[in-house]
Amino acid sequence: MDTKFIGKKSAAAGGWGALKSCGKQLLQSGMPISGARTMLKANQPDGFDCPGCAWGDPEHGSSFEFCENGVKAVAWEATEKRATPAFFAEKTVSELRRLTDYELELNGRLTHPMRYDAASDRYLPVAWEDAFAEIGSILTRLDTPNRAEFYTSGRASNEAAFLYQLFVRVYGTNNFPDCSNMCHEASGIAMRQAIGVGKGTVLLEDFEEADAIFVIGQNPGTNHPRMLGDLRRAAIRGARVVVFNPIRERGLERFSDPQDKMEMLRGGSTDIASLYLQPQLGGDMAAVRGMAKAVLAAEDRAVAAGLPAVLDHAFLTEHCADFQAYRAAVEATGWAEIEDQSGLSRQEIERAADVYITAERVICTWAMGVTQHLHSVATIREIANFMFLRGNIGKPGAGLCPVRGHSNVQGDRTVGINEKPEDDFLDALEKHFRFAVPREHGHNVLAAIGAMLDGSAEAFIGLGGNFARATPDSALVEMALRQLKLTVHIATKPNHSHLMPGEAAFILPCLGRTEMDLNEAGNSQLVSVEDSMSMVHGSAGINRPASPHILSEVAIIAGIAEATVGSTVVDWAELADDYDLIRDHIEATIPDFENYNARLRKPRGFHLRNAARHREWQTPTGKASFSSEALPDETVHQRARKGEGGRFALQTFRSHDQYNTTVYGLDDRYRGVYGERQVIFIHPDDLKAMNAEAGERIDVVGEHDDGIERVAEDFRLVPYDIPRGSIAGYYPELNVLVPLASAGKESDTPTSKSIMVSFRGRNAA
Ligand code: SF4
Repeated sequence: MDTKFIGKKSAAAGGWGALKSCGKQLLQSGMPISGARTMLKANQPDGFDCPGCAWGDPEHGSSFEFCENGVKAVAWEATEKRATPAFFAEKTVSELRRLTDYELELNGRLTHPMRYDAASDRYLPVAWEDAFAEIGSILTRLDTPNRAEFYTSGRASNEAAFLYQLFVRVYGTNNFPDCSNMCHEASGIAMRQAIGVGKGTVLLEDFEEADAIFVIGQNPGTNHPRMLGDLRRAAIRGARVVVFNPIRERGLERFSDPQDKMEMLRGGSTDIASLYLQPQLGGDMAAVRGMAKAVLAAEDRAVAAGLPAVLDHAFLTEHCADFQAYRAAVEATGWAEIEDQSGLSRQEIERAADVYITAERVICTWAMGVTQHLHSVATIREIANFMFLRGNIGKPGAGLCPVRGHSNVQGDRTVGINEKPEDDFLDALEKHFRFAVPREHGHNVLAAIGAMLDGSAEAFIGLGGNFARATPDSALVEMALRQLKLTVHIATKPNHSHLMPGEAAFILPCLGRTEMDLNEAGNSQLVSVEDSMSMVHGSAGINRPASPHILSEVAIIAGIAEATVGSTVVDWAELADDYDLIRDHIEATIPDFENYNARLRKPRGFHLRNAARHREWQTPTGKASFSSEALPDETVHQRARKGEGGRFALQTFRSHDQYNTTVYGLDDRYRGVYGERQVIFIHPDDLKAMNAEAGERIDVVGEHDDGIERVAEDFRLVPYDIPRGSIAGYYPELNVLVPLASAGKESDTPTSKSIMVSFRGRNAA
């Protein structure tokens, strides 16, 4: 069996491997010198914000305030390669569809606005004003604005996102499917219910004070790499890091900090996790419920022995509601149920609870491993419940920290990208801009796809992103896009969504985050983003644009808006020429942005006040609210174990050479896979049970009760340290297996972390 693609895992995350990988990416971009120079301005007060993830920037950062994946993101954007009209002339759209995501984007930066010509099945160059005019006329001819879907990727700046939502609301709809619908939607919903605000309550500084940090369903080594620096510093000063993750992730085991010369010179690394537990897929709620059960038992023992309380009774009494109901729910949850659903033993869970009990200040972080399940909202409520027990919210060194994926996904929601907008915000918009805002709630991602499939939606506008690859049920989504009257993609590079053209289709090239955005007078414009710690900071590109024919996101939105709704309500061109004016409007319509322009120009920007961080609870009870939901009856993993065998719970995730749907390379060195993406990670004993071998080729077949056959073909089995019955592989390749109908309760987030599948091919038992 050919297993050449399976190799050694890196000894530690970061280290010389990271520097080597950075060098490779900069060389691949063809701009090694200027690329390296560009990196020196990444995440610097007078530089640009890394277009990667939403991890925060330290108050007193270093000159090298970036990670390996930040270099990949910048090198990928600042590449010298160009996808010019000649590139599109060479191949038909049908031929381009045969390229992989990696091969397609490797062609480089878009240089000209392009319009799809159905007759030749090619994209041809078009003038900006012609593109705007045609897009505007098609949108105005739709019989209702609710027939158009306006998608936002989390890379859009606050200024672009605010102008976009303003245009779309002047146009007359709240159809705002956005990428957070597929990532942290459950976090926002659960936290608003529990603490009254849908954002994390911690600052970076809190990681310097925490005694214990619980990292649940998150792989920072690949998805938020600079977080490893904060975890390493915490581990070195004696804080305990407890990990709950089905997969053994190298970054959470050992990290060699490239910024620590001594560690690098001696080829050393620092252990991160002091306790690493591997629950089965969907088992996090049971694991956290188990820890709470152990904490309450410790409290009872302390009370019985007349010892100091384990619980923070002052916090529970003064700040919490429904504790007793929660206590009853925990007592009603037996250890057998907890062990069966979590896949962890009582002893393991109690060890984790002991870390919690013996720590004064605790932070809990989480990501997609928690948010992409049917019961994610309940799981995040359980995490909040657990943290309330010892008052670990609203004090230094403690709090809740959902770590966002895209650099400004949190900011976009803050400035109005929301299909269910609050009335206060709509009232403020209506009062400030004097137009009748649409009040009917709009479409999130799944509702937008549904509308495109049933024909009630006829147009799709994408502000960044790769909709066809980021969404579930890829075959259906591709079909949905191609049956529209209009598809428009604002993008930096060609991607597969562009190859699903509607009747009229446009690719509109925009500036990257690293590029100068000059206005009419030639002044460089500043944009702003909000990270996972609610820090709003400025970003100004430093490089010459990839082409003189590309425009900023803001200018493109202004052009489409002008052509669609005119400028009686808003002078779009004026705002596009001076982003300070956009920020004045944000200040006038959204709380906590006072003196926005002045505060933005301070180094590191400013913090958006988080009431829960000050133990002010904007919940219906005016208190931090316990929930008392029972554990889910059954997780996909538990269901897969039943029956005649051969079924698995699948999770999709990223490789280390990937960021969201952008594939920078084919290696995943932290997991020991090289040059291959068609892989399924599986426990060696499951492999044996199937009489299969490492490297064996199989098809993965989705199991869902809607009669649609979903098959991901030709994947290779890789033995890996993962719980038996759970398997994993990369998206977007495996998104074809995620049923549209399988979505989180309340969150409507696709359940990409627990999909029922089986194998087809040789030895499928
Ligand atoms: S941690 Fe995230 S934001 Fe920071 S440099 Fe890396 S990818 Fe960019």
